Amino acid sequence: MKSKAIFFDRDGVINERILGGYVRSWSEFRFMPDVGEFLKEAKDKGYIAIVITNQRGVGLGLMSEEDLNEIHRRMQEELLQTCGVTFDAIISCTDAANESGRRKPSPAMLLEAQAKFGIEMASSWMIGDTASDIEAGIRAGTKTAFLLNEHDAPSENATICIPSLKELLEYI
Ligand SMILES: [Mg+2]
Repeated sequence: MKSKAIFFDRDGVINERILGGYVRSWSEFRFMPDVGEFLKEAKDKGYIAIVITNQRGVGLGLMSEEDLNEIHRRMQEELLQTCGVTFDAIISCTDAANESGRRKPSPAMLLEAQAKFGIEMASSWMIGDTASDIEAGIRAGTKTAFLLNEHDAPSENATICIPSLKELLEYI
């Protein structure tokens, strides 16, 4: 049987976005509400949970790959300690100018995960807070959930728009 997945954008979905900047260290990382609880319920429902994130700050030299890995290590550790769950994979694109062509809105990182985990995209979801996330999900063949926020206009193309992660639970 093929797997189903939930793909999570990171900044603005898992942690608070820093407008015009980057989360460069764990001390700047603030979880969004209900992330651990949502992750636990999603995994209980049989979803693989995968983070798909553009992290241009590395490519621009504002932070190192090690800084990014350390943030993700601490994020996983915190989720494990508070909710007993972790993301199954974290896939990042650190390009400054999309040299690899993997940056969202490209579906490339989602397709990498699909190949690795044998994911059925039509049964899967991409959650994001920008139009670029929704486009990546659509191009990869997933359902899409736009997390409403004060910085980006709601995506007209998303399968659904939700005010918080909790509301997605009734759809998945
Ligand atoms: Mg985002």
